[in-house]
Amino acid sequence: MFDNGLYQTIYMSFKSLGLSEALLKAISKKGYTTPSPIQQKAIPPVLDGEDVLASAQTGTGKTAGFTLPLLHILSENPKEKYRPIRALILTPTRELAAQVYANVREYSEFLNLRSAVIFGGVNQKPQAATIRQGVDVLVATPGRLLDLQSQGLLSLKRIEIFVLDEADRMLDMGFLRDIERVIKSMPDKRQNLMFSATFSKDIKKLAHGILNNPVQVEATPENSTVDAISQKVYRVAKGLKTGLIIKLITEGNWKQVLVFTRTKHGANKLCDKMGKAGITAAAIHGNKSQGARTKALSGFKSGRINVLVATDIAARGLDIPLLPHVINFELPNISEDYVHRIGRTGRAGAKGEAVSLVSADETTYLRDIEKLVGITIPKEIIEGFEPDPNASTAPIKPGQNRQRRNNQGGNGNRKPKSTNSNTNFSRSSSRNNKSRRPKRNSERRK
Ligand code: AMP
Repeated sequence: MFDNGLYQTIYMSFKSLGLSEALLKAISKKGYTTPSPIQQKAIPPVLDGEDVLASAQTGTGKTAGFTLPLLHILSENPKEKYRPIRALILTPTRELAAQVYANVREYSEFLNLRSAVIFGGVNQKPQAATIRQGVDVLVATPGRLLDLQSQGLLSLKRIEIFVLDEADRMLDMGFLRDIERVIKSMPDKRQNLMFSATFSKDIKKLAHGILNNPVQVEATPENSTVDAISQKVYRVAKGLKTGLIIKLITEGNWKQVLVFTRTKHGANKLCDKMGKAGITAAAIHGNKSQGARTKALSGFKSGRINVLVATDIAARGLDIPLLPHVINFELPNISEDYVHRIGRTGRAGAKGEAVSLVSADETTYLRDIEKLVGITIPKEIIEGFEPDPNASTAPIKPGQNRQRRNNQGGNGNRKPKSTNSNTNFSRSSSRNNKSRRPKRNSERRK
């Protein structure tokens, strides 16, 4: 799955990374044979007790990159009878929390460790009851975590390892204050792991505040590099986009399509219209209940639903393997989001196709995207769906995304995706105070 030249030459097995037999058994049950680049780079320093700052997005195998060594460390330390929470994994969305938790469960199958997941939008009682019985690893979204904590239903006083997953999306979603509150309620002496797909000024600042002299590792998903994906732009009049997308999906007989819209309202509207055209579609965005989102995602994965219409934030972190088609119903006004979106196709070695429907008012966005990805995307016009020659090319107002742009300190701070994952461990000299971290010696590694 993560085969590439670089990887072949520095081939390492999971065993040589120092993971325990119980974990190796769970890994082989999952069918993984070789660690992905991010796993190769992140697992050894985590096992050594280092703080780690990792640049990796969904699709790189990052979840196993932090979960496996975390479980290894916890299982080697003596457990206490009442099982205080010893590891906290914080994620921005409920979906991601559920996915990470599913991974934690699978990897810890042969270990004597308990785990739980908590997120909002569902009854808190069963979550609180599980925690009361004692869990070693807690996966949580910030809101529900702070909620339960403020009610005295959980304590973070015994945290040994803290993982901040998709830190950039956390900031995009306005979780900075919540993260700060969570940090304050944990002991100073702990190991910290931070994962982020992009590195804006704000992310660096956050990392500086959380991490202690971190080892930095980097990997981009091999198949989300833009040249591995066939990209196409259809120039079309704004009002004809719905007709065109229906035509592409039905005539192409596309069975698993992820469609991106800019707004939640737009996602709902498009879904309705597709439904009327006989396409089974579901929308996934922040206004949907947890039940509806889970149902939509599982329907999409099983093939019951052919089209998933999502906003950028909702789609972030979703583990949808082998996606053949991604359609940008509207282009994102942040160019890096285009790379994230199309990175969802062509995964696991399959060939993917990314199609964008572009109206006159999106011309500026298209230009910015082409500049970022470094290619001119081939353009086509379909008969009957021509662009409107009289339409203005003035850009659409950023609208709901304006906030995000501000949060990120401007586009220029985001790091363009690179096709190269060849970065070895390097140290940040940002902090040099080792005293906060519990001592881990080499005994931990077998
Ligand atoms: P993630 O980036 O953590 O969301 O993982 C992306 C996908 O890769 C998930 O479906 C994982 O189950 C899968 N995966 C993780 N590590 C490996 C590996 N070493 N070999 C094959 N697949 C993997």
